Amino acid sequence: MPLRLYNTLTRQKEEFQPLDKERVRMYVCGPTVYDFAHIGNARPVIVFDVLFRLLRHLYGESHVTYVRNITDVDDKINARALRDFPDLPLNDAIRNVTEKTASQFFADVKALGCLDPTVQPRATDNIPGMIEMIRALIARGHAYQAGSEVLFSVPSMPDYGALSQRRLEDQQAGARVAVDAHKRDAADFVLWKLSSPEEPGWDSPWGRGRPGWHIECSAMSSRYLGEVFDIHGGGLDLIFPHHENEIAQSRCAFGTSVMARTWMHNGFLQVEGQKMSKSLGNFVTINDVLQEWPGEFARYSMLLTHYRQPIDWTRSKLIEARSSLQKFQKWYVPLEIGFSADYDQSAVDVEVLESLQDDLSTPEAFSALHRLATDLANPALQSRPDHNKRLSEFSRSLDLLGLAPRKQLVDIDATRVDAFISARLEARKAKNWAESDRIRDELAAMGIAIKDNKDGTTSWEVKR
Ligand code: AMP
Ligand code: ZN
Repeated sequence: MPLRLYNTLTRQKEEFQPLDKERVRMYVCGPTVYDFAHIGNARPVIVFDVLFRLLRHLYGESHVTYVRNITDVDDKINARALRDFPDLPLNDAIRNVTEKTASQFFADVKALGCLDPTVQPRATDNIPGMIEMIRALIARGHAYQAGSEVLFSVPSMPDYGALSQRRLEDQQAGARVAVDAHKRDAADFVLWKLSSPEEPGWDSPWGRGRPGWHIECSAMSSRYLGEVFDIHGGGLDLIFPHHENEIAQSRCAFGTSVMARTWMHNGFLQVEGQKMSKSLGNFVTINDVLQEWPGEFARYSMLLTHYRQPIDWTRSKLIEARSSLQKFQKWYVPLEIGFSADYDQSAVDVEVLESLQDDLSTPEAFSALHRLATDLANPALQSRPDHNKRLSEFSRSLDLLGLAPRKQLVDIDATRVDAFISARLEARKAKNWAESDRIRDELAAMGIAIKDNKDGTTSWEVKR
């Protein structure tokens, strides 16, 4: 069965065919780092993590490149830096805000069982690429400098609006805001704006300034994935204007007919039936949830709803997640334990796989897991010759969904842990920090926490 994904560009489910099977490429818009991420922000992170895992399963781990950016230049960040660190020079204050928030985000999404994307570029490390793109847009007649800004000229692109299915004339007629005097057209949007001496800025051909938000993603996606790539994702709210503008910039700068071939958008999340907002007092951060619930429960409850549907985030869903995961985890066998080699150790259950291949239908995948777990628990079926194979497929299916239990339910093999620790000490002696980190992460995945002692030894304990 082929992988089929709903493409916002064509408004239909399509068979997914990567441009290059050896290098499947996906970009997802990441967070603007000025505050704790909320539980709605967790949704695209979890949904596209499931897709990343599925693509790795289908095409091979080393054949998938997933890029998710960090927006660390934004006026909201500047305002937060001034508020929280009024005594520091602005650049230092900004770095404090962005580093602290980005680290928190990484920790939060790790706890939700998400793999690290292949690359997590920061906007501030990519300013030269943005300047280059803006220069190309001006040279091709798609952008102009006016007042203290460089703007993209929307009427210069005849098919602008294809993703959001908005016609330019409708937008112009419906424009409620008066056209700023310097804009040639109400729909034109900012690529670069000049900074005052107090604001953060970078030198550019148009003067010291900073980029608009949309150009960041065009520059970072093309740097890491090329001018045309396979999948671009984010929440529904990003279709217009953010993704529409990304498409306009990339296509016009590179002269291509598409930017990404498949555009995917997750639905919105509400909390207990209401739009989440600080003023309603129902604003829930990922961190709040993790204080009370293991990350897998939050992940499972998020995936109980198909990614394109709206979610109502309720406590009762977390409770449902707990009971399902407790049922599942009894039958989980880690890959490193395995059984016999007479079947494919990496195979997942066919119904789970087919559900995910049908536009990531996680609710159907969960139904299949429930049926399997019920069978595995049935004494009459446990003597069947394929029992171990089914246990293995069930476990690999949980891995594929990122729902493997973090707590070890099986006994830890101490000799094996000691062998890992010796290998790590060797790697550290050889200053091979990447290998040493890899081993530490592998131990962590087995539920083992390690501590390097002052006397050069390393001790370990099982995390409960
Ligand atoms: P933002 O930081 O607002 O740019 O959002 C980061 C990501 O989270 C984007 O992909 C948004 O579409 C997504 N997002 C924000 N709020 C929600 C929500 N309530 N439900 C689902 N996705 C959301
Ligand atoms: Zn973006």
